[in-house]
Amino acid sequence: MQSALTPDSTVVIVGASLAGLRCAETLRADGFAGSITLVGDEPHLPYDRPPLSKQFLTGRWDAERISLYKEEKHASLGLTMRLGVPAAALDVEAKRVELADGTTLQGDAVVVATGAGLRRLPGTEGRPLLHGVRSLDDATALRDDVANLAPGSRVVLIGAGFIGQEVATALVAAGHRVTILEGAQLPLSPIVGEEVAAILLGLHRSSGAQLRTGVAVTGITPPSTDAPAGSVELAGGEKVPADLIVVGIGVTPNTAWLESSSLTIDNGVVTDERLLAGPGILAIGDVARFRWLGAGHDEHVRIEHWQTAADHGVHAAKVLVTGGGLAPVFAAVPYFWSDQWDKKIQVLGHPGADDEVSMLLAPDEEGRFLVAYHAGEFLTGVLAVSKPRQLMAFRTMLGEGATIDQARMVEL
Ligand SMILES: Cc1cc2nc3c(=O)[nH]c(=O)nc-3n(C[C@H](O)[C@H](O)[C@H](O)COP(=O)(O)OP(=O)(O)OC[C@H]3O[C@@H](n4cnc5c(N)ncnc54)[C@H](O)[C@@H]3O)c2cc1C
Repeated sequence: MQSALTPDSTVVIVGASLAGLRCAETLRADGFAGSITLVGDEPHLPYDRPPLSKQFLTGRWDAERISLYKEEKHASLGLTMRLGVPAAALDVEAKRVELADGTTLQGDAVVVATGAGLRRLPGTEGRPLLHGVRSLDDATALRDDVANLAPGSRVVLIGAGFIGQEVATALVAAGHRVTILEGAQLPLSPIVGEEVAAILLGLHRSSGAQLRTGVAVTGITPPSTDAPAGSVELAGGEKVPADLIVVGIGVTPNTAWLESSSLTIDNGVVTDERLLAGPGILAIGDVARFRWLGAGHDEHVRIEHWQTAADHGVHAAKVLVTGGGLAPVFAAVPYFWSDQWDKKIQVLGHPGADDEVSMLLAPDEEGRFLVAYHAGEFLTGVLAVSKPRQLMAFRTMLGEGATIDQARMVEL
C-alpha cells in the first residue's frame, strides 16, 4: 500500500451504491478532508437495493424512501458526484480512471465498488414484459407492468433463488398465478445445503405459487396473442405461456471495464485480506473476491450481501486513512436476510453447502426453526427462519471461532 491519505489526496470511488457511499461517509467520519469523487453509471443518487424486490415492488415504499443519499446528511460531506457515466478503464499504476465520456479522473487511491449485474438469458435483452431485478430502473419497469396486469395473470419466474422467491411473494400477494421454474431439484441447496433446503421447500410449497423443480429452460418464444410475454420453453418441448416473465438466475461481477487493467480478475476483483487489489487500489462489495480470514477461514470469497458491502465500505476507508499496514484485516461475520412467504430467513457466518447441520430449534407449527452449520467441530454458520432474536445470540461466537458444542449450549 502507499502511505496514508493526506489532506491533499484525492480518492476516486467507482460505483455509487452501498459500498461506495459507505466508504465515502467513513472517510469523512475518520477526518479525511481531501477530494472524494463518486462515479456511477446509473443516473440516480445511491439507493438501497433489498427493498426493490420487497417493499418497492409491492408499492409500499417509493424511490425517495429507499434512497441512501439523504440531503441533510450527505450534502455537507463535499462529495463530487459523477452520475450517469460509466468508468471505462483503469490505469492501475497511474491510479487513473477513464470515463466513457472521454474524461479522466486522477486519484491517489481508487476504490472499485461496481457491484454485480444480472445474468441474462441469451436474446432476451429489451423484450417487453420480460424483466430482471437489479436496479431501480429494472424494478420500476417491473412494477409498472405488474400494475397493468389483469387479476389472475400468468406470471412465470425463472429461478427460485432468494430474490426470485421475494418477487414471487409480491406477485402472489397481488393476486396473480405464479409459476416458478427452477433447474435444481432442491432450490437454494447450493447455498444452504440439502437438509435445510428440503425444509425450506415446505415453506415454498404452501406459498400459493406453483414451484416446478428440476426443469431446464431452453428458450422463450416471441410474444403472441395467447402469451403476451412469450412462452417459456422447457427441455422436452413443453411451453409455459406467460403474461409476464421475470428472470432471476443470478448475477456476475461488473468487471468488464477492468479487463484491460493489470488487476487480477477471477470471478470478481481479487484482493488481499485488507481489500487491496493493488497498491492504492481497493475492491469492495459485490464485485470483490477478497481473502477472508474470519472465523478460522482462509479462502477467497465473493459475498453478494448487503451487510458485507456496507462493512467493506467502512473497512476500505480505514485502510486508506491508516495507509493499510496499520488497518486490521477484514474479518466481519457475514450476514444476510431474505423476506419471503411471510417469513424472514437469516444467515450469519459463511456456511458451506456440504457442512454438517445441527438442528438447534426444530421447526414449530409455523415453520420457524434455527440450525447451526459446522465443519467438524468448528461452527461455520447459523440459519434461522423467523427467529431473529435467537439468531443474534451467535454473532459474537461466530466472530470468535466457536465450536458446535459451544453453540449447542446457547440458551434459546
Ligand atoms: C432486488 C435485490 C434484493 C436484494 N435483497 C437483499 C437482501 O434481502 N439481503 C441482502 O443481504 N442482500 C440483498 N441484496 C444484495 C445487496 O443489495 C447487494 O449486496 C448490495 O447492493 C451490494 O452493494 P455494492 O455497492 O457492492 O454493489 P451494487 O449495489 O451492485 O452497486 C454497484 C454500482 O456500481 C455501478 N456500476 C457498475 N459498473 C460501473 C462502471 N463501469 N462505472 C460506474 N458505475 C458502475 C452499478 O450500476 C451500481 O450502481 C439484494 C439485491 C437486489 C438487487
